[in-house]
Amino acid sequence: MSYSDPIPLVDLKAQYATIRGEVDAAIAGVVESASFILGPAVREFEDSFARYCGAAHCVGVSSGSAALELSLRVLEVGPGDDVVTVAHTFIATAEAISAVGARPLFVDIDPRTYTMEPQALERAITPATRAVIPVALYGQPADMEAICAIARKHGLPVIDDAAQAHGACFGGRRSGVLADVSCFSFYPGKNLGAYGDAGAIVTDDAQIAEGVRLLRNHGRREKYVHAVAGFGERLDTLQAAVLSAKLPHLEAWVAARRRIAARYMRLLDGAPVTLPWVHPCAEPAWHLYVIGVEPHLRDGLIAHLRHAGIEGGVHYPLPLHLQPAYAHLAYRRGDLPVTEDVAARCVSLPIYPELSEAQQDRVVAALRDFLENGTA
Ligand SMILES: *Cc1c(COP(=O)(O)O)cnc(C)c1O
Repeated sequence: MSYSDPIPLVDLKAQYATIRGEVDAAIAGVVESASFILGPAVREFEDSFARYCGAAHCVGVSSGSAALELSLRVLEVGPGDDVVTVAHTFIATAEAISAVGARPLFVDIDPRTYTMEPQALERAITPATRAVIPVALYGQPADMEAICAIARKHGLPVIDDAAQAHGACFGGRRSGVLADVSCFSFYPGKNLGAYGDAGAIVTDDAQIAEGVRLLRNHGRREKYVHAVAGFGERLDTLQAAVLSAKLPHLEAWVAARRRIAARYMRLLDGAPVTLPWVHPCAEPAWHLYVIGVEPHLRDGLIAHLRHAGIEGGVHYPLPLHLQPAYAHLAYRRGDLPVTEDVAARCVSLPIYPELSEAQQDRVVAALRDFLENGTA
């Protein structure tokens, strides 16, 4: 690798190079078995991922979005219902709410953690509220103790959008057991990524697990007997085999992300940027490492990084309450001040387990160069 090789936000080729034999064998195993729909490979991954999370059940589905939508359907959330969530997230969180005919009710985030502000949740609850979806954004769980306590008081189920949080902990417990049901995405760039679309729900609740199991596979318990009208949202068997090959590495990958995040913290100490803040109960999985800069500097910084061969990102530039897709909800700029401020300042730096110290040094040098000397 030469000094000037590009440094992407996430490097899936570098990861494949370290696990090629295991992944290729897993894929070949499915192809040779000619069992492509559900079957033992899917069950095997579900069992191991449930065990990894410390949960009783895992049900594989076709994506993180499907996990969220099917969870809402099993909880019988639908038209006329409100679901409280945040606007500083990927749109899939809110799309699931829209997909079941319910209305997303966006609340503001904590200015330190960028996750759902528990007091804002409490204030937003009305008789129409039917569920709560906090998001473990960038891999840091929301304050799940406070959020679940408020939800319990009002009899509301909590669905954890843990799409970015494989391996994260809150209060010493893994993402997957922090809510009534947790939704994971195995989109390729996630901390545990498939080689295509994939997702899962994780829960201790046997009824929720059975409900999602039924809905994901056309509502059937037998081949041509359909208990309910469901969906074709199964976890693909090839993807399950890839995920089983990768899961034994997840702990080491999360540990590497934690080392890289800690090193960014040290190297950027004193720089004129806002560094990520970690809740004392949280151990983030560092899906993203996001700093805050003055809004008027952001475009210039990203261009400067690009010149240095470094990919920077913005997760996410336009909060959901201001998206054209949600114009009908009639939110205005100013409604969620913390969300809007963070959306204007956030910059994601490269972080992935294979990122070397030399590469990280280049990222930090380019960042400091910009902040201290302006554009190159
Ligand atoms: C990736 C992601 C999703 C959606 O997952 P898909 O597998 O792409 O459908 C949902 N929520 C968040 C916060 C995500 O990052």
